[in-house]
Amino acid sequence: MLLLPLLVTLALPTARAFPEHLSTFLHKNIEGAGKCVSDSHNGHVHGEPESEMAAFFDVSQTRLAWPNTPQSDFDGVPSPPLEIQPLVVSGPSSNRVDLVFFSDGYLQEEREKFIQDATRLASDISSNQTFDTVKPLMNFWAAFTPSKESGVGVGGKPKDTAFGLYRPGTELRGVYYAKPEVAGAACSSLGDQCDYPILLGNDPLYGGLGGRFTVITPSLANGASILRHELGHSIIKVGEEYDGGEGYFGVNAHADLSTPVPWAHWLTNSTNVRVERSVMPMQDYAWALLNTTKPWSVTFESSGTFARHLVRFSVSGLPEAADLQVDLDGTDLGWVPRANIGLDRWHYNLYREGGLSGGPHTLTFTLLNGARVPAAQMCNAEILEFGDESEFVSTPGHYSLYPTFSFENVTTYRPTNEDCLMRLVTTPNFCKACLEGLWLKLLRDVTLIDTIDESCAPPASSGPTPTSTLTLRLVPLAQFRTSAVAGLDESYTVTWSKDGVVLPAWTNKTQVDAAPGTYAVDVKYTTTEVRVDPTNLLTAHMNYTVSESSCTRA
Ligand SMILES: [Zn+2]
Ligand SMILES: [Zn+2]
Repeated sequence: MLLLPLLVTLALPTARAFPEHLSTFLHKNIEGAGKCVSDSHNGHVHGEPESEMAAFFDVSQTRLAWPNTPQSDFDGVPSPPLEIQPLVVSGPSSNRVDLVFFSDGYLQEEREKFIQDATRLASDISSNQTFDTVKPLMNFWAAFTPSKESGVGVGGKPKDTAFGLYRPGTELRGVYYAKPEVAGAACSSLGDQCDYPILLGNDPLYGGLGGRFTVITPSLANGASILRHELGHSIIKVGEEYDGGEGYFGVNAHADLSTPVPWAHWLTNSTNVRVERSVMPMQDYAWALLNTTKPWSVTFESSGTFARHLVRFSVSGLPEAADLQVDLDGTDLGWVPRANIGLDRWHYNLYREGGLSGGPHTLTFTLLNGARVPAAQMCNAEILEFGDESEFVSTPGHYSLYPTFSFENVTTYRPTNEDCLMRLVTTPNFCKACLEGLWLKLLRDVTLIDTIDESCAPPASSGPTPTSTLTLRLVPLAQFRTSAVAGLDESYTVTWSKDGVVLPAWTNKTQVDAAPGTYAVDVKYTTTEVRVDPTNLLTAHMNYTVSESSCTRA
């Protein structure tokens, strides 16, 4: 049975200059602090279409930063000089998905910092988490170009840097680029060594952009989080799992309950498919600059029918607990900043047992420390209400239908509560639906067989037939990984045949001595991370002929 969530009726604004900016969305009453002026993007200097700006905030694949400009328009633009350094390399670029970090806002004397930043980010997303299990399908490179100025621009004005990265205002949100043609030329010049270009802007704080070029910063708190989330969009071609986004599509999104669930094979309880009961009574991307004159607050209505609730928000410019008080209906929620967050942005989740009473409620952000002006900012806030555990399973690892609410409060469904980094940017891993999608997308561009090498076997003491040694080079998964992945059950099955007849003695061998003739090898990879492979991407086939002259004895 499907239990539909209770939705609160919401008044939507009739005109929104920037559809991604939810500053007038959902709340009936905003009081206090001035709205962030940079939200208007009026200082934008390069005249890109407004749709570009929609790519911000978390920036989904649905909004490419220059959606109408094909790469061919940039033909003839020279690439800047690139100094390439391998970071994590698993095999030949011709049979790998290659990610390249390009430097922006790093001076020549900051080259080493760039290499360190890129190395840390590549390691963070591929060691023990996120892309760890698929790492043998990928290469990570750093491509250094010196910039004439250090850092990224603000106020819509790029500095004199390789790709012209800049923030539209000063808020910690989108980072855009002024020179897509240069970035395009840089990536194109690398040929198949550049599948996913990443522009790394030399700025210590939160910021990024998704699309053709993933833009990130080396923010210690946020850089890796934004990178893996944006790569989720770019590589898996999925939309958001968090509330308030624009794009919900792909293997992690289900819109129509009358159609099959895309992750049906991952459902914890496949005989009783249901919607977990929750609702979002308030969401506000206010980007409000805080001051001590007047608190920022928002009032919303609860139906009073839910057992639990969550106050979710992000703030920046607030390094100390004594800087800010967050109240719900006058009760101090006890906010404390993430350790060592400094002025960077961070997301907070205050899970609260007990339901909200029916009627109006007020969430208030009070700046206590005037010295934090003008950096102190309430970026966004959201209230979620949940049924009790029998109505809404909050346990990690539970796969069901969890309602997600778009910026227009359109409901779609996601696979888990909070298991996925496409929902919670502070979590390091994909949900199983996204991870399976990741495997299948990567394996569209990677075949499991790198090559077959032929060499001459050591001379036999007797026998008329010269033999060759065939070495099957597989993508280093399963037993060929350089480091095993704990808890991953995976294996290769290798089947050889000659002239159409299977050679059972050679099963699962990757090195065989072969007399002249025509051989075929079939490889099948199985992993617990892929349950459904409709187009047999986890298989590979190669023919190989050993000629008479290959190993003729002298
Ligand atoms: Zn996103
Ligand atoms: Zn997911």
